[in-house]
Amino acid sequence: MKKGLRIRLYPNNKQINTLNIIFGHTRFVYNYFLDYSKNSKDYKYTNWSKMLTTLKNSDDTIFLKEADKFALQNSLKNLNRAYENFFSKRANEPVFKKKHNAQSYRTNYTNNNIVLYEKGIKLPKLGIIKCKYGKDIKDNKIINVTVKLLKSGIYEASIIYECEEKTLLKTGNSVGIDLGIRKLITTSDNDKYISDLDIDRLNKKIRKEQKRLSKRTLHSNNWNKQRRKLAKVYQYKDHYMLDTIHKATKAIVEKYDTIYMEDLDIKDLLSKQKLKIHKREMLLSSLGQITTLLKYKCERYGKELKKIERYYPSSQTCSHCGKTYRVGKSETYRCPHCKLIIDRDYNAALNILNYGLSHN
Ligand SMILES: [Zn+2]
Repeated sequence: MKKGLRIRLYPNNKQINTLNIIFGHTRFVYNYFLDYSKNSKDYKYTNWSKMLTTLKNSDDTIFLKEADKFALQNSLKNLNRAYENFFSKRANEPVFKKKHNAQSYRTNYTNNNIVLYEKGIKLPKLGIIKCKYGKDIKDNKIINVTVKLLKSGIYEASIIYECEEKTLLKTGNSVGIDLGIRKLITTSDNDKYISDLDIDRLNKKIRKEQKRLSKRTLHSNNWNKQRRKLAKVYQYKDHYMLDTIHKATKAIVEKYDTIYMEDLDIKDLLSKQKLKIHKREMLLSSLGQITTLLKYKCERYGKELKKIERYYPSSQTCSHCGKTYRVGKSETYRCPHCKLIIDRDYNAALNILNYGLSHN
């Protein structure tokens, strides 16, 4: 099974120089063959590939040898894919790459040309670049690495590696899951994952940097600096949320064999709440990611995700006596019939579990 890992790179000045050369040569090759194919109507990758070898040995273009050879080859493959997508009407016609577009290239693993160390990664033509990563994949086989310069000025490598399929042990447990906006996940064991306070904290950070940006003169140096800073905060937000969601969904899939959740229309759920636009968007994407990742992880680890009927009133029903009562906006469910006092989301999760168990 193939997996991906993103790591932050900290190249020194010499390496930044080499990276610029590789980005530039990769772009040169892409544009050269785009131009060639437009004029000659020769769209064959194998022909381009032969021509590239010739180019690397001609005086005018011998500089191409400075670049990582896989980067150039993969640039041709990208162009080939862009044409395939265009001819099958999945995409627009490929266009020339410009210097101010996002910069990236992909290199392939062969004969130890790429090695991941504790605090560095060895890449062809670059030597060891300082890097930071959270997950140890040293025992896995690297397939390829894409090096990127992001708009925020950050260098990043996405590593694709082969890893053995892990199966999770069966636990014999089932769980109901309530998706909400205060705690994004509450389970029928009253475990809570991902707080909206995190979302508020991240939004506050973004607003602060946006405000600073609005005070700068448009296109000035300080404006550019601030724009990069804002992009960094956005990126941090995306990484942080995705990481948190990965951890939460993994924990749930490890703990339970069958997971019941409502077949929710998340947009509809959020439309009933008074929320600021940023928060609404973040909740929308986070709740969507939770659903997608739970589904994906259940399939991958041999667990079951079962959706229960959309219109079951899970938050209006008492999990103890089964009678219904309109709870309103309160965070606590107080049953007027059996006097149960319980956390609203926990009550809903219990109902989802009970409904799931009795209808399957
Ligand atoms: Zn009750």
